[in-house]
Formats: sequence, structure tokens, C-alpha cells
Amino acid sequence: MKVMILGSGVVGVTSAYYLDRQGHEVTVVDRQPSPAMETSYGNAGQVSFGFSSPWAAPGIPQKAMKWLFQEHAPLKIQPKLDSTMARFMLQMFGNCSAERYAVNKERMVRVAEHSRACIDALRADTGIRYEDRQRGLLQLFRSEAQVEAVGKDMAVLERCGVRHRLLDAKAIAEVEPALARVPGKFVGGLHLPDDQTGDCYLFTNRLAEHCRERLGVDFRFNVAIQRLKRVAGRIESVVTSDGELTADAYVVCLGSYSPFLVKDMGIKLPIYPVKGYSLTVPVTDDGGAPQSTVMDETFKVAISRFDDRIRVGGTAELAAYSLELLEQRRATISMVVRDVFPEGGDVANAEFWTGLRPMTPDSTPIIGATRIDNLWLNTGHGTLGWTMSCGSAQLLADLVDGRQPAIDPSGLDVSRYAA
Ligand SMILES: Cc1cc2nc3c(=O)[nH]c(=O)nc-3n(C[C@H](O)[C@H](O)[C@H](O)COP(=O)(O)OP(=O)(O)OC[C@H]3O[C@@H](n4cnc5c(N)ncnc54)[C@H](O)[C@@H]3O)c2cc1C
Repeated sequence: MKVMILGSGVVGVTSAYYLDRQGHEVTVVDRQPSPAMETSYGNAGQVSFGFSSPWAAPGIPQKAMKWLFQEHAPLKIQPKLDSTMARFMLQMFGNCSAERYAVNKERMVRVAEHSRACIDALRADTGIRYEDRQRGLLQLFRSEAQVEAVGKDMAVLERCGVRHRLLDAKAIAEVEPALARVPGKFVGGLHLPDDQTGDCYLFTNRLAEHCRERLGVDFRFNVAIQRLKRVAGRIESVVTSDGELTADAYVVCLGSYSPFLVKDMGIKLPIYPVKGYSLTVPVTDDGGAPQSTVMDETFKVAISRFDDRIRVGGTAELAAYSLELLEQRRATISMVVRDVFPEGGDVANAEFWTGLRPMTPDSTPIIGATRIDNLWLNTGHGTLGWTMSCGSAQLLADLVDGRQPAIDPSGLDVSRYAA
């Protein structure tokens, strides 16, 4: 079957890989000149299966109110509230009950744990390297209240069989030796030894290269997708800046822009662009830099080690589709990396970047069929799109083939929003 993947971010390229391996003739279409030029370009570099948690959590509405007035808050909301943003926030706050959190967390962990097995197999199959490390993630706590609050997450990790250890202030420096240089800053941490790190841009590009050269996937870049054309209840073609392109099946992987394409098909995708920022800092002192990923729980900033760079990512800003680089956000993430790893890198000479996380109100991606039988969705991966990409794409490939899927797909497709 001819399958057309719309979008060449990490979700589109992994979808191409799994669909091709299942024997399909795959084409990938994107408006950019190469893969991973939008949200998959500069993310925080965590492949953090064990850390997959919904942002919509008990207590978040109250915390959000406090954050509005803090200088270095993890969440910022632009003063101009539009109706899409207001609807998204209401839906997100509706997912903040303990019951909804448990349902959403289980769905995310289901996809993420499948991704763990898939990315390891993908690395073995393709041989690609992307400045990757398999040395775990350390969530850092600055207060005892944070240590107490992590108990609920540890119960879910226990149930899902995810290895983890709660560490005291001394033990965190055994995992990340540079933390010994900032004594007294953290009271402890949660270590997830099986999490991974790497550069998502390199991963996506090297996988795309493998797909093109070894598997024969056809990539069409610099092509803007304009609309879908439906005839007799099926998608007949995609109208693009390069004319009409046809296939037997179409998979939407357009990240934050997915809702615009399927709206005319009567499909409402509750995906909102949640802006985030990153810094890429040259390493100046290996001993003062992280060895893997740490997540500063207070500021929700992740700091990951690549070969000779440190990637620092964080902040959530509700500002529609603006990609403006705001200096106040740079100040926040610079402050955190200087605070945690003061001797690790040259923060003044960092590359500053922003991207739009394709967030759903329940933080869970949308994977599966639509009411149009040759139109599929693999989108809405929000905060942990790289982490969940391989598992989502493998599941999607099983569903497109009508095979018994490798994991339970219930609660993952768009029909969960029908009510
Ligand atoms: C600051 C920050 C830190 C993050 N940190 C992490 C992390 O550490 N770990 C993690 O797992 N995730 C992280 N994420 C999330 C992750 O980066 C995203 O979930 C993921 O990149 C989404 O991938 P995607 O392929 O769905 O979207 P994208 O990468 O945005 O790809 C969508 C593609 O669609 C194309 N497109 C869109 N519209 C059109 C059109 N009309 N015509 C043609 N092409 C079109 C775009 O060009 C783009 O290439 C982070 C995100 C941010 C912003």
C-alpha cells in the first residue's frame, strides 16, 4: 500500500520507518528543506520513559495562579487570551483531578514503555547514533515537600515496573558528580536509571537518512500542505504547493499544525501549541557538566548532556503560534543551568531556540484511526514527543495494517474526545 506521511518531525520520520518496515511504499512530505526543522529541532534531549507524566495534575490550577506572579515561573500566559487558548486551559484544568491524572498517566506510560523497547531495537537495527547516552535521568528536589509529593508518581512507576530509586542529597552526587560542587542546593532526587538522552535533531535526520538510503522512503521537502481532498468518504489526495499528491492512506504528523488540516474533514483536534525554549551551551569543563539528564523540579527545566554541548530546555508559554524569542525566558533557563552546573559551560555563548509543543489537554498523544477510513493520526505528543515517538509510530503501523497491535491502543485515538 502507498502511505503518505504528512510532516517530517520526529513523529513523522519514525512513522515512516515503521510503516516501511511493514512493507509499505512510503512518502514523507514537509514544508521545510530537511527533517526536524520545527519542534523536533531543539528539544531538551530527554528520552524519558519513566518521567512520562501529564502536566494536567492535581494542584496545577492553584500553582498556575501563583506562577502568574513569579519571575522565573515554569508557566507563562500571554495577557491576550483567545478563545482557543481559553478552551484548551479549561479542558486541561478538567484533567487535573486525581482520577483523570491516573487515567492519563497510565496511557502515557503505556506508550512510553513501549517506546523504550522500540528505540533500543531501532538503534540495533539501524546503527544510528545521535550523541546518545543510556545513563538515566535524575529529578532534583529543592524541598522536602517535593520529595513527599513524588510518592504518588513512585506508586505508578512501581505498578508499571519502571525501575527507580529515591536518593538523598549525598547520593545524587554519586549519580551526577558535578552536583558535589553545589552542596546544600538539593535535598534529594528521584533516579530513573533506564532513561536515555541524545539530540533529537540528529536522531531524526540520521533515521531519515537511513529510511531514504536503505529503505527507499521518498522524502519531498519544501512542499507546503494546503488541504485534504475527500471524494466518496475517502481522502483522494493532498493539495500542496507542488500540486496534488496521492496515496492509499495518509498519516497526519504535523505537530501543532495538525488541527488546521483535519478541521475541514469535521475532525476537531484539541491540540494547542505550548511554547518552550532551549539553550545549547558549549561544555567548558567536563567535570562541572551533567553526564546525563537532570530535571530541576522547581523550575521544570531539563538539562541534558550531548558530546560537547549541554542542552537546557523548559518553560511553558501559552502564546498561540508566536515563535518570538523572549529575553525573559532566556534569563530563566540561563539562571537554572548556572545555578545547577555553575562551572559546566559557556552560557553567554549559548544558542537560543524556541519551539511549539503540540499539547493535548490530557497530555496523551492522539494515535489511530479517524472516521475517514484512509486517514490516520499520529500527533499531539506535547512535552515528551521524542520519548513517545517510536512506540507511537510502531503502534500506528500495526493499526494501519490491521494487525493485533503490540500494545493496547484503547484510549489513545481521537474518539476519546467525542464526549
Ligand atoms: C523546549 C522543548 C523541550 C522539549 N523537550 C523534550 C524532551 O526532552 N524529550 C521529549 O521527548 N520531548 C521534548 N519536547 C517535545 C518534543 O520536542 C515534541 O513533542 C516533538 O518534537 C513533536 O514532534 P512532531 O513530529 O509531532 O512535531 P514537529 O517536529 O513540529 O514536526 C511537524 C512537521 O510538520 C511540518 N508541517 C507543519 N505544517 C505543515 C504544512 N502545512 N505543510 C507542510 N509541512 C508542515 C513541519 O515543518 C514539521 O517538520 C520538547 C519540546 C520543547 C518545545
